[in-house]
Amino acid sequence: MPDRDVDLFVVGAGSGGVRAARIAASYGARVMIAEEYRVGGTCVIRGCVPKKLLVYASRFADEFEDAAGYGWTVGKSTFDWAKLIANKDREIARLEAAYTTALERADVTLVKGRAVLKDEHTVRLLSTGAEIRTGHILIATGAPPSHGHPIMGIEHVISSNEAFHLTALPKRVLIQGGGYIAVEFAGIFAGLGAEVTLVYRGENILRGFDDDVRAHLRSEMERRGIRIICGRTVAAVDPTQDTITAKLSDHSLIEVEKVMFATGRRPNVAKLGLEAAGVQLAKNGGIAVDEFSQSSVRNIHAVGDVTNRVNLTPVAIREGHAFADTVFGGKSTPIDHSNVPTAVFSEPEVGAIGLTEAQARHRLPKVDIYKTLFRPMKATLGGRDTRSFMKLVVDASNDRVVGCHIVGPDAGEMIQLIGVAVKMRATKADFDAIMAVHPTGAEELVTMREKAVSYERLAAE
Ligand SMILES: Cc1cc2nc3c(=O)[nH]c(=O)nc-3n(C[C@H](O)[C@H](O)[C@H](O)COP(=O)(O)OP(=O)(O)OC[C@H]3O[C@@H](n4cnc5c(N)ncnc54)[C@H](O)[C@@H]3O)c2cc1C
Repeated sequence: MPDRDVDLFVVGAGSGGVRAARIAASYGARVMIAEEYRVGGTCVIRGCVPKKLLVYASRFADEFEDAAGYGWTVGKSTFDWAKLIANKDREIARLEAAYTTALERADVTLVKGRAVLKDEHTVRLLSTGAEIRTGHILIATGAPPSHGHPIMGIEHVISSNEAFHLTALPKRVLIQGGGYIAVEFAGIFAGLGAEVTLVYRGENILRGFDDDVRAHLRSEMERRGIRIICGRTVAAVDPTQDTITAKLSDHSLIEVEKVMFATGRRPNVAKLGLEAAGVQLAKNGGIAVDEFSQSSVRNIHAVGDVTNRVNLTPVAIREGHAFADTVFGGKSTPIDHSNVPTAVFSEPEVGAIGLTEAQARHRLPKVDIYKTLFRPMKATLGGRDTRSFMKLVVDASNDRVVGCHIVGPDAGEMIQLIGVAVKMRATKADFDAIMAVHPTGAEELVTMREKAVSYERLAAE
């Protein structure tokens, strides 16, 4: 293609797009990237990073309370939401600038504004009307929040995007949703002093996680005063002067100051020109791609949430990197989506990797389960009524640990390291062979001796 302006055009400067652009440029490709909102994408601007900062803020109340048991007298504490948001915004602006600088240093041309595909080799910049001829296109447009079916008053409902910019901390909040974003924001608002009601249409929160984890987290959240209503939905919202009345599907009414929906995210494929370029979608609404993130069109790839595979930042980054290695680095790099560790920054935290107990029973003929429930040491003098939970799922035919599930302090940190062992196909005997680090919570993971239960599938089953 002699008349091309660039070798690669990346649509979307989020986690996947930025990584792909930088790595492709490092291989000598001429790269242009378009961003219609802010460089860094969801994770940096209105996802993982600001969320974790709010989570940190929300945990101080417990710390102040528990300090008394350790001999501290903490004076009257006050909380300033506006200050937290301003400080958070400053940090996000710093990160956005760092991402922009990293692109510049890598010789990637950044264009601010929306880009759409005109055909499989041409991208149009809507702000100027310029048309860029390119050898390859990478679509990394993410997945914005979706409120689901429209209900009466939906315009008064916020998503996580707006939650990061509220001018004041609402005193009473209703959150609809049962996924990780819903439970994380429930913990944030509750920790900062709000009265929180979580409404979820399913039978329990955190669908897809291990059932014991779901039950344990729910009881811990309820112990912290969060009201959880399952099996119902918000049917309508009706704002009055200062409050909003949410009407649930059972006709009950809940009066709050804010209603937030965290009901899922939809792959960002609309009005991108995908049809003009011949790019096909998968059944789940994402762009259909193979293990190299190649779409139905040979020179068009897609990574991250827009492909609706595993919608997490490190996965988008890995997919973007592997794409660049494959297409521009001469290193064919397929993506392995198995055993992705994940954390939920709820209160308490969840960390998980691999098969749940139910999945293991479904897939494997023989399964051993080890589990433990204990009071974290810090809670003893602190006086907090809380329990940590840990579970190992073991393939009993070869002793391999195929799942690990944790609810408790630092679960996210623990699961990152346990992930290495699980990915390396460690056995329960390997877990037993390592010396424990004492006194820690993590030591429980390597000191579980008694099976809680064993399952063996009968030949006929
Ligand atoms: C509240 C929240 C908390 C989260 N917490 C975590 C967490 O703790 N851990 C974790 O791993 N993941 C978390 N995630 C998920 C994570 O943010 C995403 O998986 C990740 O950002 C996906 O990266 P991406 O590159 O696919 O898309 P994004 O980061 O969403 O980037 C897409 C970019 O494309 C831009 N764009 C879209 N269309 C166009 C266009 N036509 N032209 C130009 N630009 C365009 C968008 O403006 C956006 O900047 C969280 C998400 C949310 C919403």
